Order: sequence, then C-alpha cells, then structure tokens
Amino acid sequence: FTLVDPLTSPGKGVHFSDVAGLKEAKQEVSEFVDYLKRPEHYKKLGAKVPKGALMLGPPGCGKTMLAKAVATESNVPFLSMNGSEFIEMIGGLGAARVRDLFREAKKRSPCIIYIDEIDAIGRKRSSGSGQFDGAVGEGEQTLNQLLVEMDGMVSKEGVLMLASTNRADVLDKALLRPGRFDRHILIDLPTLEERREIFEHHLRVIKLEQKPALYSSRMAFLTPGFSGADIANVCNEAALHAARDKHGTVTGADLEYAVERVVGGTEKRSQTMS
Ligand code: ATP
Repeated sequence: FTLVDPLTSPGKGVHFSDVAGLKEAKQEVSEFVDYLKRPEHYKKLGAKVPKGALMLGPPGCGKTMLAKAVATESNVPFLSMNGSEFIEMIGGLGAARVRDLFREAKKRSPCIIYIDEIDAIGRKRSSGSGQFDGAVGEGEQTLNQLLVEMDGMVSKEGVLMLASTNRADVLDKALLRPGRFDRHILIDLPTLEERREIFEHHLRVIKLEQKPALYSSRMAFLTPGFSGADIANVCNEAALHAARDKHGTVTGADLEYAVERVVGGTEKRSQTMS
C-alpha cells in the first residue's frame, strides 16, 4: 500500500479547494473530517460514526482526490491500495495483504484507508463470472478477509474506510450491508458549470494569453462527457502544443487542438477495449 503521512510530508496533500465542483459530495465527506478531528465529541454523545463510505462513479471524476482531501483536511495519514493489486495474489497473499493494511491502519489511527477499484476484490462471490479464473478460492478469501476486518473495526478506533468503484452493480451485497459500506456518495461526470470550474482550476497553472475566465466557459461548452481527468489532460496537452510550436503563451487554438487530441485518445482507448 501507499502511505501519505502529514507528519512526514507536510503541506503536500490535496485540499478541498483543489477539488472543483462536486459541491454535494464535498459536503457529505466533510462530515468525516469532523469525526476524525473530534472523535471524543461524538463518543460523548453516544453517536456511532460511520465506518466508511463508498464513492461511486465513472473514472477520473475526483474520487481519489476527494478521499485524499478528507485525509489532508483532517490532518491524518492516508493509506491507499488499488483493488487490482490483490488480483494476481496466490497462496492466501491477498488476504494477508488485507490483514497487513488494517494492522497498519490501527497503528496509525486516526487515519483513512482508501481502496480504489474495490470491485476488483469485492465482486459477488460465486457469481460464475469467472473473474478469478484459476484462483476462485483466492479472490473469495481476500474478500472474506476484508469483511472480517471491517466487522472487527470499531468506530472508536478512528479508522475511516473509503473505497471507490465504477462498477457498483458487480459488488458483493455483503460489502454494502449496514456497518460496512452503507454510505454511498455519487461522483458523476461534471456538469457544464462544473467543467467550467475544473477548467478554471487547471488553467490557473498554465501561462495563457488571456485570463482563464475568458476560456473556461467556452471550453466547458466544447467538452460534454469529459471527466475531470480529461479536462486536466486537455490543459496539459494545450501547454505541450504551445511549447512545441514555440509560442510564448497558450492560446484558444492550442486548447481546441488539445480537445480533439483528448477525444481521439479516448476513442482509441474504447476501440481497443471493445
Ligand atoms: P479513478 O476511478 O480512475 O481512480 P478518480 O475518480 O479517483 O478516478 P481522480 O484520481 O480523483 O479520479 O482524478 C484524476 C485527476 O483528474 C486528478 O488528479 C485531477 O487532475 C483531475 N480531476 C478529476 N476531477 C477533478 C475535479 N473535480 N477538480 C479538479 N481536478 C479534477
């Protein structure tokens, strides 16, 4: 797993202000910041705080950013792992990794555990989908271990579990039961206004011919269906294009060229995948 600890890398984290748009999702997760900052307050009132939340939505829309922002704003360590890292594990290694992750989290509590692409380990057991072909028992063992660890986690331990997926439909129901991932936060593709905000955010670091506000509305209009990651990519491609063409500032034409390029890349990706 990867660890970001505010003690060893201060000032490096993602903040809520770095996440453009996603107003409701931000509001929902900001409750967690309060739990992590003032656990005693909740305990005194006899409130059981949620152990975790599942963030649902298409890739590149800010799920990881938001999870990291909760850690930064709460000033707690962030332990993360990608579900796909468990897939090729054999001989009980996947389950052992889950155990290690939770053991480490307990040591560092209060902290956040984040599992990206949880569907890679959390698929329905014995669904016959053949996802763990050749290692059926292994995948189930890993998922079972995750469930055991989640159940063993008491809210007073101050370990918050966040996970993300874009395939909620394939998740094992056991993961979604009360006391496990019973809170769901939808993080969808950005709306027109959100795309404008994301453009403004990413254009800020680019040397533009004119002010970011003069480009962001038009760019948002030209990019329906783009994720935040696509938008970040457009801004960077535009800067690369300007650098290649050796002009001193990034222009509207560079940005429009970059949109075409990112659309082209996305189309190619989906052709190879289908
Ligand atoms: P995945 O499911 O593929 O892990 P994700 O939803 O976790 O995707 P992130 O990793 O959070 O997506 O976002 C990828 C990148 O896209 C970010 O590093 C950032 O540059 C950009 N991005 C995505 N959403 C936003 C946003 N709301 N505001 C600003 N930047 C964004």
